[in-house]
Amino acid sequence: MKYSDDIINIKGIGEKTAKLFYKLGIHTIKELLLYYPKAYQRFDEPVKIAKAAEGELVTLELFLTSDFKWKKLRNLTIGTGICSDGNDRISISYFNVPYLKNKLKSGSSFLFRGKIKIENGKYHMDQPALFTWEEYEEKMGQLQPCYGLTAGLGNKAVMKAVRQALKELVPESEASSENISNNRESDLFGEILPEEIRKEYALSSRSSAVWQIHFPKDWESLLQARKRLVFDELFLFLLSVRKMKEYNEALCSDYPMIETAWTKRFVETLPYKLTNAQTRVWQEIEKDLLSGMCMNRLVQGDVGSGKTILAFLSLLMTVSNGYQGALMAPTEILAAQHFEQLSSMTKQYRLPFKPVLLTGSVSASAKKEIYKQIEGGEFNVIIGTHALIQEKVKYRNLALVVTDEQHRFGVRQRELLGEKGGRTHVLVMSATPIPRTLAIILYGDLHLSVVDEVPAERLPIKNCVVDVSYRKKAYEFLTKEVRAGHQVYVICPMVEASDADMEEIQNVTDYGEKLRMMLPEDVHVEILHGKMKPADKKRIMEAFAEGDIHVLVSTTVIEVGINVPNATVMMVENAERFGLAQLHQLRGRIGRGKSQSYCIFIDGAGKEKTTERLKILNNSNDGFYIAEEDLKLRGPGDLFGIRQSGAMEFKIADIYQDAELLKKISITVDHLLNEDRMLESEKYVCLKQYLDENAGNFIDFRTI
Ligand code: ADP
Ligand code: MG
Repeated sequence: MKYSDDIINIKGIGEKTAKLFYKLGIHTIKELLLYYPKAYQRFDEPVKIAKAAEGELVTLELFLTSDFKWKKLRNLTIGTGICSDGNDRISISYFNVPYLKNKLKSGSSFLFRGKIKIENGKYHMDQPALFTWEEYEEKMGQLQPCYGLTAGLGNKAVMKAVRQALKELVPESEASSENISNNRESDLFGEILPEEIRKEYALSSRSSAVWQIHFPKDWESLLQARKRLVFDELFLFLLSVRKMKEYNEALCSDYPMIETAWTKRFVETLPYKLTNAQTRVWQEIEKDLLSGMCMNRLVQGDVGSGKTILAFLSLLMTVSNGYQGALMAPTEILAAQHFEQLSSMTKQYRLPFKPVLLTGSVSASAKKEIYKQIEGGEFNVIIGTHALIQEKVKYRNLALVVTDEQHRFGVRQRELLGEKGGRTHVLVMSATPIPRTLAIILYGDLHLSVVDEVPAERLPIKNCVVDVSYRKKAYEFLTKEVRAGHQVYVICPMVEASDADMEEIQNVTDYGEKLRMMLPEDVHVEILHGKMKPADKKRIMEAFAEGDIHVLVSTTVIEVGINVPNATVMMVENAERFGLAQLHQLRGRIGRGKSQSYCIFIDGAGKEKTTERLKILNNSNDGFYIAEEDLKLRGPGDLFGIRQSGAMEFKIADIYQDAELLKKISITVDHLLNEDRMLESEKYVCLKQYLDENAGNFIDFRTI
């Protein structure tokens, strides 16, 4: 077995199961091993019923006071019985688990693991996991990995596959791994760090880390494993960034620009006045473009601070100098929106843009034609997604590349697009609130501008955090807003129902159906999620932008950049499952017009701690403040599960949580490169080899 093999090579994985793994983005054994658990479950000592809090996942030791009674309801077989822990009684129900019929007999006792509900003053548990004492004892104290799943693929199946792949490919003990790693070729989890760095940071081996992240012996080993993997991720990333910086610095531009009358005129004719922050950042960009050197600038600004217009101004400057410019967005939806906006401004203000939209969903023959016209220079602004950086696109004189919402792209991609046009100017825009000290480290290859002001005329969003019992009222409120001519977003964490979790996590598919039934008939509800066909996504988004759809039930695909100023309400289901920074990004989709906007966070867990976290959002609309407060509230137990997703696409590192480590690594990387710029010394052999072999993810040292 090799890391690059298809997962179908794992024993027990047939074509059907393999397809489910593919759905999760896992095609190869390597991808499987890098599919880290989202959380861990601990099997604690059983508790008494009276001691358990409602909704908490607990194990109860119970005996059955009578046989379970089974009845059929359409295609459901439901078994219900009363059990006791000696003090209290609880009713338990199972659905469609026929093989339990013979087990659940009066007088027998088992361990039941699930969540307690209290209904009419009586205890109840649905579909608990069932164990004998022997089975349970074996698991007690252990941490069981919980993977992200999809319908039809259970946690056990993923665990089994991972365990098997690990057994075949990764030596389990530290000692054996050290022997092998230094001379085995292409060993993904072989050692890459010189001894001195491992010692300095007290890091475990890579092979033991990958074992322990999937199957931790205990909490301590899990933290050790995480530390090692976080280190590697940040270390390799920073190494690439530093190399890139060297490459970019003091690079003469192939596309020098001069001032033209266009940008000034455009600013003057806009229906609003630029904020002071926008004006300042625009001056910084302008100076770069006129300097004769290559621009490498990151523009950071909170959601709604008005970054798009800065991109358009930069493109205008480029085009009026006779060059081509490209604008790259992380999603098709966002690319299409930028295209619409730029096209309509072009008409309205008679700008010299000849824009084209280039995304993955454009048909092959149409694409060919577009490529030809790009090469011929008939288009001067190319807007699109990743399809832009495909080999086939040849630009005529690409002078500027703007990437919107940069945290969605790897360094490598940015570099690729940059190469297309020779020494192009690069402008990167991000709404992720990263404190300046961290931004300088992470984007070390870029100069930094901050749009630290939102347009003044905007009313601050009104927020509330409520529990699920508020839903009915919320629906009435949405209806009222729709009646007033506004539009609504409803966000759910999942795309479709999953049989994996016992918890109640809302999904877009069912929720859309539910809202169609709950809301008045003339309220038009539609759904949107990342698994839909691009053409469908586009159609839905356009209809929403047009106002034809009143309520859009969506996953976080709408998180980045979407601009529909008429939307005034956002309701987020299971808000406790998102990172605060991400919720803040989501919330940025409303409050963009002149009307008052409202954000309703539904807290599905109702635990004190999650409520406290969500309250931060309630009290502030400032992204930087939120990121900081969130960090303060999180303890070591929160390392997994909720992450500040949205802030750079690291697999396991979290730039907020790991901020201190990141700063330290940054210094280590500087030392290392000062001492040995090309990594030529013997002790870096493995590191260099690893970087070369994984050039897709990092900067290729050979090309620099
Ligand atoms: P983001 O920074 O999140 O990308 P956008 O560029 O999408 O924000 O801008 C959000 C909204 O604010 C848009 O509708 C845009 O037209 C508007 N806008 C931008 N700048 C100003 C300004 N100076 N005054 C008023 N409205 C503005
Ligand atoms: Mg934006």
